[in-house]
Amino acid sequence: MSFEQLGLIEPILRALVTQGYANPTPIQAQAIPIVLGKKDLLACSQTGTGKTAAFAIPILQLLHNSKEQGPNRRIKTLILTPTRELAIQIAENFRDYGAHTGIKHVVIFGGVSAHSQIQALRQNPEILIATPGRLLDLWQQGHINLSFIQQFVLDEADRMLDMGFIHDVKRVIIKLPEKRQTLFFSATMPGEIAHLANSILTNPEKVAVTPVSSTAQKVEQRLYYVDKNAKRSLLVHVLSDASIASALVFTRTKHGADRVAKELNRAQISANAIHGDKSQNSRQRALSDFKEGNIRVLVATDIAARGIDVDNLSHVINYEIPNVPETYVHRIGRTGRAGASGVALSFCDDEERAYVKDITKVIAQQIPVVEQHPFLPSGIPMAPRPTPGVQLRQTSAQQVAARKKHRDNNRQWQGNNARKKQANN
Ligand code: AMP
Repeated sequence: MSFEQLGLIEPILRALVTQGYANPTPIQAQAIPIVLGKKDLLACSQTGTGKTAAFAIPILQLLHNSKEQGPNRRIKTLILTPTRELAIQIAENFRDYGAHTGIKHVVIFGGVSAHSQIQALRQNPEILIATPGRLLDLWQQGHINLSFIQQFVLDEADRMLDMGFIHDVKRVIIKLPEKRQTLFFSATMPGEIAHLANSILTNPEKVAVTPVSSTAQKVEQRLYYVDKNAKRSLLVHVLSDASIASALVFTRTKHGADRVAKELNRAQISANAIHGDKSQNSRQRALSDFKEGNIRVLVATDIAARGIDVDNLSHVINYEIPNVPETYVHRIGRTGRAGASGVALSFCDDEERAYVKDITKVIAQQIPVVEQHPFLPSGIPMAPRPTPGVQLRQTSAQQVAARKKHRDNNRQWQGNNARKKQANN
């Protein structure tokens, strides 16, 4: 299934090429035709499945086909989402996919001054992305007219419930025209959410895709405990294994991505970095070099890595552990695609242990720890609780002996490396 086969218009197809999306994800393949057919939709799917594009792309197409220009433009689409982060992310998606459609969107959320949001609303956007509280505030102040809404998207409905926003959501819904298309997204369907869905959807088409946490089951994962300042050496060490054909390395910052790529090149490992400070051209070039196998390692930040789709990517390396567990799942989901076997390695320093704990909760499994490597941390590690089937760290006496052995190995390894370098010079 391709995006062309879904009947998407040229300006959107062009934007998807720029994003580097090769094919629709399962939720997109299922949902896009339903939304284009102006039917209601009940979708059971989580962040990470491509659900934002599953509603953003067909909505842009519907609006493009019924485009009104100038001051008569009204808000025709409302997307209600629980958090500021999601609101911003959704807005970025509309910006990216709608880059050639000329369709305007505005995003509003609480916790910041409303001034610039009110100014933006005066520009007559067709799409409004909002968190419930701020939407109600600005509606009450007369800045928002909801009477022309044609499409209403309720995003992450179960999270709205968890965060105590469900009452606000219901207050918004009664302000919408009854005749409208409603798209309802929720990762889970607790009773109250199923009841809400029943009450606001008309003959919905239902789609469900595998929950995000199950991605993690397909990927072989390993955890390396390491001091922060030894991560670069550990990365070089790990990549000295020639069986790693290609690796996507994630760093938290743009600067970090550049530094890591530089370090790898210095160690004779071909690498390039992509991040938001690089021009679109140089990002595309780095990506195609990576896809074609001209470089072995691509170092990326999460933002820059959005939309990177590389067939047969063998390894993902979390040089830094993300503080949002879903980001971990997104990252490792880039390998092991379409049944291919993938490996995800994560480097965890002392400060990142709490993130690992959150991740293991979300993926509902422990990540096996690599016991033997030359850069075991110098501090006394907190022993993670052992889980059946997963070999964890040794106890203290064994640890001391093992450390000594690792230090010796390490020295030997560094010595070998230095000799290699000399030989190369
Ligand atoms: P979402 O579930 O909407 O949070 O999307 C998860 C990630 O998948 C985002 O980083 C999107 O940019 C990316 N994505 C969405 N659709 C596609 C696609 N068809 N191909 C590759 N990546 C995609």
